[in-house]
Amino acid sequence: MTKQRKGLPLKTLHISQDASHSSEVLCRAADILRRGGLVVFPTETVYGLGGDATSAASSQKIYAAKGRPSDNPLIIHIAHPEDAARYAYVCPTYERLAKAFMPGPLTVILPKRDIVPPETTGGLDSVAVRCPSHPVARALIEACGVAIAAPSANRSGKPSPTCAAHVADDMDGLVDMIIDGGECDIGLESTIVRIDGEDAVTLLRPGAITYDALCMVVSHVTIASAVLEKLAENERPLSPGMKYRHYAPDAPLVLLDGEREDVLAFLCEEQKSKQCAVLCYDEEVSSLESAMLYPVGRADDIAAQAKVLFRHLRDADRASPDVIYAHLPPREGLGLALYNRMIRAAAFAVRRIP
Ligand code: AMP
Ligand code: MG
Repeated sequence: MTKQRKGLPLKTLHISQDASHSSEVLCRAADILRRGGLVVFPTETVYGLGGDATSAASSQKIYAAKGRPSDNPLIIHIAHPEDAARYAYVCPTYERLAKAFMPGPLTVILPKRDIVPPETTGGLDSVAVRCPSHPVARALIEACGVAIAAPSANRSGKPSPTCAAHVADDMDGLVDMIIDGGECDIGLESTIVRIDGEDAVTLLRPGAITYDALCMVVSHVTIASAVLEKLAENERPLSPGMKYRHYAPDAPLVLLDGEREDVLAFLCEEQKSKQCAVLCYDEEVSSLESAMLYPVGRADDIAAQAKVLFRHLRDADRASPDVIYAHLPPREGLGLALYNRMIRAAAFAVRRIP
């Protein structure tokens, strides 16, 4: 199906999930990419807005379509872990990480080779490399024959898209093709690490490859302070993306920290005087009488909560509540990634109850 939005430059070709694996579709998508066009494709984390990683013009188009500052570098996606050597200078620590976690939701920052233009890396001499596990993503990169630079396929300032409908909301008319791959498995962006030397990395962005999992493979894993805290006024970010404002809903998002019964009592009281949207646990639905409940999964199921976070934030925003409440996630395991995204969406607003 092809649609053209009024006033927007491109006719976007929408590929249904049924057709997403067809070799004809993938050849056509690869052809668009090789000619300098943009294709949105599914990955196991979130949808990616892809362009030829070796083309300065393609990267500039990606920044324009996203409305993203061009000093915030792109992640390049490869079909096989060993392809990294074509674009970057690899090292034994990369090889160990690749063996343990690739294909999968891990991005590694490495010194870049000349084939990657500075437009792709925001002018940095390093490049972020990832080998996704999603079969459509891998088949597309393979068909393209070159790495695909792809940030999340949202307009800058919106939550990352985890389904094709959210991509279309943001990108219809701005890209050549959107390939529907259904709902993303993980729902949060990849873990990003920078290699600091032999057997040492810094965790720049937490994701589904957890701190504990990294520690099983690398002896020294440092968590960048910006993962958990606000960047200080004059602090130089380790990753350019850290300095940009992250998605924040129109209504204030407040994270509640307290015992379950206390939090529920607080929410019931708040609902009497305010239009509250609540991202609640499944087992709390019957205790809360709000028209704006967004069940995120069971309290102990962090993977389920990660998967629906961005969808619920988009939906809650659309309902125009006075305030959005959610539980403060734990910082262990995958919880660290959820915490990192939520604390930013909430602009660090945490309310301790009682
Ligand atoms: P996104 O493309 O939306 O998933 O965001 C990619 C993130 O990777 C951004 O926060 C970037 O700052 C970060 N990143 C990409 N390349 C580099 C690099 N060479 N050095 C440090 N951070 C990077
Ligand atoms: Mg993003």
